[in-house]
Amino acid sequence: TKANGLPEEKVFPRPLKDVEVRHTKIFINNEWHCSVSGKKFSTYNPATGAKICDVEEADKADVEKAVEAAKVAGQRGSTWRKTDASSRGGLLNKLADLLERDRHLLATMESMDTGKPFLHSFFIDLDGSIKTLRYFAGWADKIQGKTMPVDDSFLCFTKHEPIGVCGAIIPWNFPLLMFTWKIAPALCCGNTVVLKPAEQTPLTALHMGALIKEAGFPPGVVNILPGFGPTAGGALACHTDVGKVAFTGSTEVGKLIQQESGRSNLKRVTLELGGKNPCIVLADADLRKAVEEAQQGAFFNQGQCCTAASRVFVQEEVYQEFVRLSVERAKRVVPGDPMDPRTSHGPQIDQEQFDKIMEMIKSGKREGAKLECGGVAVRTQGLYIQPTVFSEVQDHMRIAKEEIFGPVQCILKFKTLEEVIQRANSTEYGLVAAVFTRSVDQALCLSSALQCGTVWVNCYNALHAQTPFGGYKMSGFGRELGEYALREYTEVKAVTIKLAETPG
Ligand code: NAD
Repeated sequence: TKANGLPEEKVFPRPLKDVEVRHTKIFINNEWHCSVSGKKFSTYNPATGAKICDVEEADKADVEKAVEAAKVAGQRGSTWRKTDASSRGGLLNKLADLLERDRHLLATMESMDTGKPFLHSFFIDLDGSIKTLRYFAGWADKIQGKTMPVDDSFLCFTKHEPIGVCGAIIPWNFPLLMFTWKIAPALCCGNTVVLKPAEQTPLTALHMGALIKEAGFPPGVVNILPGFGPTAGGALACHTDVGKVAFTGSTEVGKLIQQESGRSNLKRVTLELGGKNPCIVLADADLRKAVEEAQQGAFFNQGQCCTAASRVFVQEEVYQEFVRLSVERAKRVVPGDPMDPRTSHGPQIDQEQFDKIMEMIKSGKREGAKLECGGVAVRTQGLYIQPTVFSEVQDHMRIAKEEIFGPVQCILKFKTLEEVIQRANSTEYGLVAAVFTRSVDQALCLSSALQCGTVWVNCYNALHAQTPFGGYKMSGFGRELGEYALREYTEVKAVTIKLAETPG
């Protein structure tokens, strides 16, 4: 792969021209529905500000319909319940085939709706989505219980059963990838799903509805409801027939989801929330590589990642050089049209996020961090922000404490390992961390000491379908991906049988 994370290719794939959005309605029971209220909302292209289309707006009444459909689809005797485990895997693989077939269309649509560079959509989001579906397809017929050697004359075994109706509420930064992270483990374990995409980015989720039907999933197994958080999302979070909600988004809303569970039916909850992730560069690191990876970690997806490398701690011996190289690199990033294959940096998702990031940049300057480059909007277009580097950042500053969710790299200086461990951990978050060093001892010491769900050594954003992903502390709980994800979508049932005689 090249430095920007994309494969070396002579001929790059191209976005489709004049994409016609065919699916704008609510997807329930493998059919397209208008909203009960008759309301619609618009989705916009963040690169141009142009409206793409109107989408049906789901609310409580639509959630009622969808949950009922999902409940019926998963009840005893239903087609889905009678589908063999291996056939469930087959359906997920078929869905992955359809994503491959429609890869150009989905990547184009994703870039239109989010503003992310087309090649990133094509190579990163689509690749991750397809691999997630195939990985969990493989698990479908390998979800096994155990037999326990209990005392006296009993036979005791466990079964891992589906939870039932699983709600999923997902964000706008990786719409398709988050869609597959939620549905793939849920379906492989035999659950049914009601999913609400983010209001900013409903389009690829709705296209997935069409592919789910085409793949042959029975009606009601997956239901997709475009709509807003407090209305459609809230209705899902407090519904008593929903057995589990998986949420990715802000910590603030994550807390509400947990509360709704407590107020309603104690539905299982998994939360993937924010991060203020430390990226630690030791003096003995391969410096150029560390500069490259740390900055990609900060700017990837316009900084709109829960995994963003938002606190880069650099050891004092190499600090000046690290800052110099980082600034040099940041200045080379040219924000541009997401559909142009040369573009690696697009616009922010919407005005609200744009304003929030510009406000955070102002606070950095006000509190005395040194603005090395960027810090301004790109003048020609609305939602673009010039990649920004701050040096001399102090722990007490807002930019060092709060999630920015924008292309802002904050560089801090440290002296000793003990000091950086303490400072890296002094945050309410604990999602990911990265360590750059040539010393195995230092890498292992830090990977034990850092309080977070993932530690990357000499790499960044190295996510794989096989590896669990999730947070410590207020970054949430539960794990997505990997075998660990199966636990979050199953109940364990112990069956104990009294035998006439003690065996043996
Ligand atoms: P958000 O948490 O409000 O939205 C995420 C999802 O939750 C969306 O589908 C939204 O409709 C839904 N939602 C919102 N309020 C809800 C409620 N009361 N009940 C149920 N569902 C609800 O995030 P946002 O407003 O789009 O972004 C705000 C901040 O959140 C960002 O600046 C960033 O810090 C963080 N964020 C994190 C992630 C992540 O991947 N962890 C993704 C997006 C945003």
